[in-house]
Amino acid sequence: MHTDALHDLPGPLSAGQPDVFVAGGGPAGLACAIAAAQRGLTVEVADGMRPPIDKACGEGLMPDTLEALSQLGIDAAVLATVESHPFRGIRFLGAERASGSKALRTFSTEATFPVGEGRGMRRVLLHQLLIDRATVLGVRLSWETVVQGLETGEGSERSVVRTNRHAVRPRFVIGADGHQSRIRAWASLDRASISARRIGLRQHFAITPWSDCVEVYWSNNGQAYVTPVAIDEICVAFIANRKFPSVAHALTHFPELQQRLAAARPSNTPRGSITLSRKLHRVTRDNIALAGDASGSVDAVTGEGLGLCFRQSLALADALRNGDLASYQQAHLDLQRLPHFMGRTMLLLDSSPRLRVRTLTALQRRPRFFQQMLRVHIGEAPLRLFGSTGLLASFLCILAG
Ligand SMILES: Cc1cc2nc3c(=O)[nH]c(=O)nc-3n(C[C@H](O)[C@H](O)[C@H](O)COP(=O)(O)OP(=O)(O)OC[C@H]3O[C@@H](n4cnc5c(N)ncnc54)[C@H](O)[C@@H]3O)c2cc1C
Repeated sequence: MHTDALHDLPGPLSAGQPDVFVAGGGPAGLACAIAAAQRGLTVEVADGMRPPIDKACGEGLMPDTLEALSQLGIDAAVLATVESHPFRGIRFLGAERASGSKALRTFSTEATFPVGEGRGMRRVLLHQLLIDRATVLGVRLSWETVVQGLETGEGSERSVVRTNRHAVRPRFVIGADGHQSRIRAWASLDRASISARRIGLRQHFAITPWSDCVEVYWSNNGQAYVTPVAIDEICVAFIANRKFPSVAHALTHFPELQQRLAAARPSNTPRGSITLSRKLHRVTRDNIALAGDASGSVDAVTGEGLGLCFRQSLALADALRNGDLASYQQAHLDLQRLPHFMGRTMLLLDSSPRLRVRTLTALQRRPRFFQQMLRVHIGEAPLRLFGSTGLLASFLCILAG
């Protein structure tokens, strides 16, 4: 199947074909390369950009994300070699007007991780750690190399990938080329359901973190979440249905945070990006598989995008080693279930001020529920806990009453 005018594209077929070719050298692509190399496969990664590659991100790594990273060989000892900041849980804050009332009510409630801790880390530092690990494992990294075409093979024939520099005929092709994946389109894997599309804006501030939690501020205009990333720096990510024209404008919707940051100096230029809740119908075809945002994504406010990339990479590498991409299709489905459930819950609170006020009130009164939700969120308790223990039912009773 020809998916592009390949004969017009440059580049001779490169000698020494890799087992795996990965399009995209972001967190997902590098994680896939590392996991595949750990299983003895030869890998090439191509990315159109050159590191350091920055991107709008909340920069919070939850405990389950750190666990997956450690399976990729980036454990606590490796993380300790770069600047980062631990956090021990999640705090929800808000100032909301109850319906029919003019008075503002403030909310603050927190839950701590049952085991371990999370870590805030600048995106570019995490990217460099992934690059270093891939390099040690012998992964070929081709920067400023744009993937321009894919010719999928017939039957057992290998696919051919062409870039602006060369052509490759690997055993497997991985599309880890982000939200707007071209590999996905060329492989006809674009069929998807999109349940939410929001816009993120990120800004770092030079200020001593005031909290040992990731703080999520709720408002009628989205969320702002604050992650400590160094002893003297925080990352603030705003997520909303509409684009904020500036960070200053975004802060006006979060007066408490605005006050905290009044004297703080922005430490770089802001960055924006869209965040989608997208589920693909399929993530594999023949010898092609998708990973990371290319394979679907969860809303940024879940803080699970990176964790999902890393867990997918481990499952995909097992499938590649066994030459059985069908098992990855199933694993991918299983892995996205929990983050999507959590994402839907958060988006429900975003869309209904009334439900949000009731929920924040309930969580403040009964922090145990928040604690249980966090346990489920980070995979320390099964999702069915909501059903089997009547947790959700009890919670809805609290909301109702
Ligand atoms: C505002 C915001 C806040 C977030 N906060 C968090 C958070 O706190 N915690 C968390 O875990 N997740 C968070 N996420 C989600 C997380 O950032 C993403 O899930 C993650 O970046 C996905 O990585 P990726 O490698 O799939 O995609 P990307 O990071 O987009 O990488 C894709 C790469 O592919 C390359 N590429 C694209 N097309 C081509 C081509 N044709 N040829 C060669 N290269 C190509 C690009 O240059 C890019 O480097 C957030 C997202 C947003 C938008």
